Amino acid sequence: MELIIIGEAVQKSLIDPFNRKIEYVRVSVTDKCNYRCNYCMPERGVHPEGHHSDYLSYDEMARLIKIFVNLGVAKIRLTGGEPLVRKGLASFVARIHSFDGLEDISLSTNAHYLEREAKALKQAGIHRVNVSIDSLKPKRFNLITRGGDLSNVLAGVDKALEVGLNPVKFNMVVMRGTNDDEIEAMVDYGLAKGVEVRFIETMPIGPAGVSMMDQHYSAAKILQRIQQHVGKDLILSTGKTHDGPSKNFKIAGTQTRIGVISAVSQHFCESCNRVRLTAKGVLALCLGQENSVDLRTPLRQGVTDAVLEQLIINAILKKPERHFFNENVHNIEFRQMVELGG
Ligand code: SAM
Ligand code: SF4
Repeated sequence: MELIIIGEAVQKSLIDPFNRKIEYVRVSVTDKCNYRCNYCMPERGVHPEGHHSDYLSYDEMARLIKIFVNLGVAKIRLTGGEPLVRKGLASFVARIHSFDGLEDISLSTNAHYLEREAKALKQAGIHRVNVSIDSLKPKRFNLITRGGDLSNVLAGVDKALEVGLNPVKFNMVVMRGTNDDEIEAMVDYGLAKGVEVRFIETMPIGPAGVSMMDQHYSAAKILQRIQQHVGKDLILSTGKTHDGPSKNFKIAGTQTRIGVISAVSQHFCESCNRVRLTAKGVLALCLGQENSVDLRTPLRQGVTDAVLEQLIINAILKKPERHFFNENVHNIEFRQMVELGG
């Protein structure tokens, strides 16, 4: 941990052993989901199902988030599972929105319930929304998500744009032989809506993710296809605060950007600034490694905030340098993306 003295005040920040500053926490509010995307979740759902008391309450989550914010975390993304299946999310957002130092609260969602929730979420303080859409063909969408309804998702997207959530981004996991023929259609949809589309390589996380690796489609090929399709230059855009692992390009002559997340073909671990808090209170230090620390047990044993702060500082010192998706896809087979929150 680094202590920066500003006048009388001491500002704390989380620095890992590789000198990366941790400023971003992805908080999974549930590991349950109304969809069952084939690359993310087993068909039967999370197994074994957690008991209600296994999950952090909103009070517990808010307490941990406040401690993270005091340690210099400025960005929180609410994810899942599907965050909108947990009741009371907008009130929770309003509550953490009041934390001094928390600059940005965003949401990752499958958008099935977004039409209903978008206005309240915006009013509560959500700024940005990423929506997963892997196909624009209703039947195929239904197959990939094992039951999803594309019309709900598209209505959710329109509502999000209407209430002024900004930016809305689309995330498409590209799978060879399943939906790779829709890369161009997704670019066109993004252009029509003025929305950035991010194309994601399949990652070998959990049995579902590992089983999809034979459909892996590289970011380089995706970019080549897009370039051919738009017939315009793709201008690398750098330095946007919220780009994260996405490598982004502006389509020349438009205001629209596309991005690729090449976690497997070209890892970006050297700039990793994030950790993940699961719905059961486990702090996962890397998407592709098992290293994690249980925060729920000490929290429920009644330790003070100062002790929790120290546990988090110690946990960050265990953050691994990088994942090994290419070298050993099985090392994270038993952790599921639906628990980790993407
Ligand atoms: N339910 C929300 C959603 O679908 O956006 C949030 C949770 S989901 C786990 C977060 C992100 O992880 C989604 O963009 C999803 O496509 C991505 N994801 C899940 N499993 C993946 C895998 N095996 N490879 C790549 N991305 C994956
Ligand atoms: Fe649910 Fe999102 Fe996973 Fe699909 S990607 S199963 S919507 S958590």
